[in-house]
Amino acid sequence: MTVPAAPASAKRVLLAAPRGYCAGVDRAVVAVETALEKYGAPVYVRKEIVHNKHVVETLRERGAIFVDDTEQVPAGARLVFSAHGVSPAVREAAAARSLATIDATCPLVSKVHREAVRFAKGDYDILLIGHTGHEEVEGTAGEAPEHVQVVNGPDDVDHVVVRDPAKVVWLSQTTLSVDETMETVRRLRERFPSLQDPPSDDICYATQNRQVAVKKIAPDADVVIVVGSANSSNSVRLVEVARQAGAGAAYRVDRAAEIEDGWLADAGTVGVTSGASVPEILVQDVIAHLARHGFASVEEVSTAAEDLVFSLPPELRTRRTAG
Ligand code: SF4
Repeated sequence: MTVPAAPASAKRVLLAAPRGYCAGVDRAVVAVETALEKYGAPVYVRKEIVHNKHVVETLRERGAIFVDDTEQVPAGARLVFSAHGVSPAVREAAAARSLATIDATCPLVSKVHREAVRFAKGDYDILLIGHTGHEEVEGTAGEAPEHVQVVNGPDDVDHVVVRDPAKVVWLSQTTLSVDETMETVRRLRERFPSLQDPPSDDICYATQNRQVAVKKIAPDADVVIVVGSANSSNSVRLVEVARQAGAGAAYRVDRAAEIEDGWLADAGTVGVTSGASVPEILVQDVIAHLARHGFASVEEVSTAAEDLVFSLPPELRTRRTAG
């Protein structure tokens, strides 16, 4: 039996807030823009400055050159480290090539690096909850490779081997699902009752706030659309969180054109949110697309106010003042 389509008058959008850009992404993008203004193109950027296709393409058009490795940067050129952070080995490789580096690592990622260094100095086994291969995890683990092991999630816990169960601490990637991470910690603590917590939350305020907001709209939404790129960890987590919180369905799109008509066919309420690396213009394109499909009423549902701003990396602050 086919479900009758919702009448146009019943069609509405619930728009989650906070959504989109966080303080760390904003700072990283402005850092590349400022470097291009001050020094001219090209400015090299190691990896994607933030995990969003639109942002990367826009900066590329303005003269940024994205590379995977410091070896691809001409000796002496200017290189920006992305918001996800780098390991000391990458910093050393850049110094060996005399690169003029600008560090756009999010300060909240740098905080986790410092925790890793501190616990490694105390000779702890550090269980870093995160996704193997993610740039942030590679950077944090690289601070103390002989002390850190990556735990990919609850199912990975049984494989963990530590030297001294009385001296174990967990840290995490900043963009994980809060609920899944707490489940991983619960299972780790079952195995290691003396497991120490990080000094403060490693999952950052922006990740947490966006998950709380999508949880609020998901139970009322037939479909939740998350704007964000496939390699954006926090965006992918928002899709999972929306499904777990009761959305009829949840999909991730890079842009409005990827929304399939079939997703909307029987929907009365569509929830919309976006990952921390997504410019608002992409969300507004989605809202316009939905309006063209009869979802003209938009209600913003806000669960927190954000006003955190990070200052630019010191290299750019100094130049700005001098210039
Ligand atoms: S998501 Fe969090 S850790 Fe990542 S850049 Fe934004 S504020 Fe920083």
